[in-house]
Amino acid sequence: MKRDLLYHFVQDSLRPYFEDFVIKDRSNPVIVQFNGILHSLHISQVHDSGNRRSNDDEVRIQIPRKYIDKQRSRREGRMNVAFIGFFEGGRVFTAWDPMYIFTLQARRMVSVYARQTQKERVEECSAAVRTFSAKYMEENTSEIALTSDSLGFYLQNIQHFHRLRSDEDIQRIVRDSYSANFLSIEGETTSTSEKRMRFSYTRKAFPRDPQFKKKVLAAYGHACCVCKRQLGIVEAAHIIPHSVHNSPNTVDNGLALCIEHHALYDTALLLPGPDNLLIFNQDRAEYLRQEKQAKGLDAIESLHHTRFAKPVSQEYEPSNENLQRGLEIRMGSGS
Ligand SMILES: [Zn+2]
Repeated sequence: MKRDLLYHFVQDSLRPYFEDFVIKDRSNPVIVQFNGILHSLHISQVHDSGNRRSNDDEVRIQIPRKYIDKQRSRREGRMNVAFIGFFEGGRVFTAWDPMYIFTLQARRMVSVYARQTQKERVEECSAAVRTFSAKYMEENTSEIALTSDSLGFYLQNIQHFHRLRSDEDIQRIVRDSYSANFLSIEGETTSTSEKRMRFSYTRKAFPRDPQFKKKVLAAYGHACCVCKRQLGIVEAAHIIPHSVHNSPNTVDNGLALCIEHHALYDTALLLPGPDNLLIFNQDRAEYLRQEKQAKGLDAIESLHHTRFAKPVSQEYEPSNENLQRGLEIRMGSGS
């Protein structure tokens, strides 16, 4: 996987869980926002450490010094920062305490290490922790491995996670986070600290205007603006995501999309753009090819630069300005 496509792993991990998830900047360290909070994530893929003779389980990521400096200054600017390494396939990630990475001294390229067997443990029991001593830290530090659907949970509790010292503790916390109805959970560790750690997992709900869907569907004659199908499978989508500040609930900020084209829109593979032209996202396509998830791609690509339908009445037509802004937000190249 090319380094500049890794943000798709982040997008696929977080988008299903956070209504307001947007990528603010897709170049590494990637800036994402959810629950109204900005997170700066240095992402890379774990690979062989080149040191297999001494430890054939060892893998590592390498972080250019300039990215660490960037992360430090973003942290001082009150962004939540993290260092994430995705294992092949993107379904398991490993993460190091940013405070530990900030102590590392290498001048140009910093290496941090993980274990390939962590991935297998996570696939079996959803979470694993490895504790190790660090040269410039008084206490031990830890490397955490989790499934990618726990990335949001991790990002909301980075400091707590790196104080966990046993697999039982981390697995219990993660299990609790799977239960659907909590807004915050409390985790207690017995091994490291008498203090209670309050883990939280929040998904902000954004109020929806019930009239929006009704009006948008009526404006488009209950037909998908891409494939023209009706069949009672058509939904209303916002052009500027409804979680974005100042996104209006007006019909000219809406599109009628069938469930299939809505999903392709949400995953940013096929997007309505200015002048009623559909835009096929080559970047996303390249990622799907590399992930061997590209069956059916040609049919979608053939829609590039074809026109999507306008609403029946001109007054409901989306403006080019909104279409352009929506496109930039969804492709992660604007804010
Ligand atoms: Zn459709």
